[in-house]
Amino acid sequence: MKLVILGAGESGVGTAILGKQKGYDVFVSDKGIITEKYKKVLLNNNISFEEGKHTEAEIFDADVVMKSPGIPDTVSLIIALREKGISVISEIEFASKYTNGVIVGITGSNGKTTTTMLVNHILKKAGLNVSMGGNIGKSFAQQVAETKTDIHVLELSSFQLDGIQNFVPHIAIITNITPDHLDRYDYKFENYINSKFRVTENQTESDFLIYDFDDEVILNWLKNNKVKATLLPFSIEKELEQGVYLKDEQIIMKYKTEQKIMEISTLALKGKHNTKNAMAAAMAASLLKVRKDTIRESLEDFEGAEHRLESVLKINGVQYINDSKATNVNATFYALDCMQSPTVWIVGGVDKGNDYLDLMPLVREKVKAIICLGVDNHKIVNTFYNVVDLIVETAGAEEAVKVAYKIAEKGDTVLLSPACASFDLFENYEDRGNKFKQAVREL
Ligand code: ADP
Repeated sequence: MKLVILGAGESGVGTAILGKQKGYDVFVSDKGIITEKYKKVLLNNNISFEEGKHTEAEIFDADVVMKSPGIPDTVSLIIALREKGISVISEIEFASKYTNGVIVGITGSNGKTTTTMLVNHILKKAGLNVSMGGNIGKSFAQQVAETKTDIHVLELSSFQLDGIQNFVPHIAIITNITPDHLDRYDYKFENYINSKFRVTENQTESDFLIYDFDDEVILNWLKNNKVKATLLPFSIEKELEQGVYLKDEQIIMKYKTEQKIMEISTLALKGKHNTKNAMAAAMAASLLKVRKDTIRESLEDFEGAEHRLESVLKINGVQYINDSKATNVNATFYALDCMQSPTVWIVGGVDKGNDYLDLMPLVREKVKAIICLGVDNHKIVNTFYNVVDLIVETAGAEEAVKVAYKIAEKGDTVLLSPACASFDLFENYEDRGNKFKQAVREL
């Protein structure tokens, strides 16, 4: 059997290793240049590959093709493969065939990484044999190839879900659904929503779907579509008959029995959005038979993920927060919502069709100055110029931080929460967050 892999990134190389181990004749093809790190792995494992081109004769010879999530379904090569009846799948589809481990699959527009890390942390603390992967860290495929784990906690992007056939998580979580990546979905929100819900399409009555009950988009989809899995919603607004909800500032879980898990004030991660992430993670852990005390302790001592509402330093009474991972309006909404002091807000970058009006009430209430950090800031300036007195345009993290330092007074917060992608001025959101932190440390 010949396995062709398109794209030699983390998921491609992981799939190559697993495919080789399972006896496939593996060929990796990348139209760009393969990074040294991955080239080395391919060479060390004797896997044949090409870069800078796609040789069609090699590719059309495949029995199965694994496509990296970065390659859109609309490129001519993928269309041609499908027309020829060659199945084009994603890494998670391929890798899940080779593990008997229980899969917890986490998707959504925001909160995937945080929730994935929370679930992993709780299960680890409970002493379970667990691995974390997918869109985060080491690829799922490589983990399946190298270690035998009882539970796989996977962060799943919509692109990974687009390439599934039989993939089925025992526990699926949909954190929320707000418009994102619409350029890959014909600018139809509908398509993106359907893609996220594919996480549950192969689930049966013995599986579980955990989701945000406060999210209209999710509720609406569930009203119009049938799901076989047991539904376990979470809500910070309503009491539920089954699922996780808040009562008197406590997290209550109701499934078969009713349990008080903990007070929200002792959660390590602050903000409403993180309370939701914690509720989803707690539910998943409880389904995997983790004791309530372990869940509570884990949610109390969890250390947050880098670049997500990350406290950097307090200088002259001003708190600096790095939320570089906020690459869309919804993520920034929750960041602003958490702010408890006058905020100097650093925002901007590559706009993915943002509607900033959602932020207006929070900006009015909390933001004392806006520092734009992008090449083209006109939309931000036009939206907020008569709401915020001071708007400054900058073109680098260091400049933005220096300006913020001048403006902020004791008791204020300087928040980098861009609501935009980063590639106009930075390599990626990590680079943006790191440069911000470095500039703060150098103040
Ligand atoms: P993802 O992996 O889905 O991008 P992250 O956990 O990396 O999610 O968080 C991305 C951004 O969204 C961060 O700015 C974070 O503070 C914010 N965020 C985290 N959880 C949620 C949530 N449940 N709803 C909205 N925003 C969230």
